[in-house]
Amino acid sequence: MFDKKAYTLYKFHKQLNQSFQNKRELLECALPALRDLFKLDRVYFFDWQQERAILSLKMMCKKEYCMDMQEDISVLNEPVFLRQLLQKGVAETTDLSYPAIYVLLRWQRPGLELKGGEVRSFMQDRVGVLRLERFRKKRIFSAQEIDLIKDLGQEISHNLRNTEIDQAKNQRLNVSTALNDLSTIFASSLRLNDGLELILKGVQKYFRFDRVHLYLTNAEGTKIKSVLGVDVSGLVTQREGKDIKKEEEQILKEIFDSSAMYRAIRSVIYIPLKVQRNKVGFLTFDNLLSRRKIGYLDFISLQQFASQMALAIDNARLFERVQELSNYDELTKLPVRRYFNEKMTEEIYRAKRFDLSLALIIMDIDWFKQINDTYGHQIGDLALKSVSEVIRNSLRQTDVPCRFGGDEMIILLPRTTAEEAKIIARRLQERIRAIVLPVRDSAEDVHLSVSQGIASYPQDAANSKELLERADQALYVVKQNGRGSYAVYREVMAQVEHTETPDKK
Ligand code: GH3
Ligand code: MG
Repeated sequence: MFDKKAYTLYKFHKQLNQSFQNKRELLECALPALRDLFKLDRVYFFDWQQERAILSLKMMCKKEYCMDMQEDISVLNEPVFLRQLLQKGVAETTDLSYPAIYVLLRWQRPGLELKGGEVRSFMQDRVGVLRLERFRKKRIFSAQEIDLIKDLGQEISHNLRNTEIDQAKNQRLNVSTALNDLSTIFASSLRLNDGLELILKGVQKYFRFDRVHLYLTNAEGTKIKSVLGVDVSGLVTQREGKDIKKEEEQILKEIFDSSAMYRAIRSVIYIPLKVQRNKVGFLTFDNLLSRRKIGYLDFISLQQFASQMALAIDNARLFERVQELSNYDELTKLPVRRYFNEKMTEEIYRAKRFDLSLALIIMDIDWFKQINDTYGHQIGDLALKSVSEVIRNSLRQTDVPCRFGGDEMIILLPRTTAEEAKIIARRLQERIRAIVLPVRDSAEDVHLSVSQGIASYPQDAANSKELLERADQALYVVKQNGRGSYAVYREVMAQVEHTETPDKK
């Protein structure tokens, strides 16, 4: 015998037997199927928020189409209706002028919770309600139909459960892929600023927040600056480190000092970035524009990610600090040769490109060996320190001094002619002559003098190698002529040629 009800159920089951991305997609398939099966005029789906006795309308399907809806209906004053719905799984309304029937859907959805610092998953009960309407008064729902509708409701509930489990799995997979991707980017970009922009864009994209913002503390951890922001379209909204308001800073410092994992302030969520007690900064995010709820899973994943991010930023900072330190000479606090060469290449390029002049001074302390031998190495060191201090305090920001080796310093002077370099050399010479080194057990103080050679681009040299050579030649001439002075390559060569010319003849 052909069982018509069993066959209908079987067909309905087959219709829903596909993988849906989310609840909405499933309902878009299930509701029209019900509509066609029972020749309905309207079919509605509600989420039932039991604790608040609210039916929250999500979707409505008419003859031609389905649409998303958003409307909360209180059922607090309808205890009879509610009891009936819960006990029997279906309930009919009496207040409408046409037949309408409610069907209860029950399923379970995976949830996550944070317990003792661990993320635990559990199943949570969900309740939904379908409302089926026929506009013609006479077309009431028969007992047979109601029986079938209840079974179909169970089929839909079953599918709701599967869809939500799949969705949670996919989401978790997405998030762990995202975390992996982002961590890899971070690990491979030791330069902090390159990394940060990629990361923030990644966080915004993967977690789909309206806005993500990064705040960083200064190296001492005393001041917090707003560093980088990415908006809903993935665009960088702010790049420069900007000071933040006093009150904001106060709030952020409070969060740091508490052991809070996060804090929500005016719908913006702040996650402190810390490495042990080291305060690194803050990651903040919000969905203020879209008003989308921030998912619990997103939230927990982001917290895990934030701790990795804090560690990466801390490492990158350390790397930059070491890098910075290795550019400078311990004793004199002047840049070292490697750093200087880089700068020199840049500056020569700039001078060529924009037709600018550039000067170079090579300075060497006079009779330095003697100072070491007479007063000891410590006084020698002090002499080097004092000379370097004078150099550092006598130059413009754009000038580049360097300890070239031993008692030899070089100074690169961008946008400077040989004449201007002479003025600088004279100033340096005077200030260095004024240095007095206190020496114990010695009747007289130690005074210092230096010799300096100057060469300039483009008059004396065509490239950096030549420039160094020419300045060194000028220095050599100064040393030969008794020390304690300075000279420009072109000028000394003119003199040499002048004095040498008669011999050659
Ligand atoms: P001149 O006037 O011809 O330059 O003679 P000088 O004695 O200065 O000779 P020179 O420039 O060749 O001497 C460099 C000396 O600098 C040799 C080395 O012992 C000393 N020296 C190099 N580095 C340091 C340092 O870090 N500390 C100290 N105290 N001495 C150093
Ligand atoms: Mg010397």
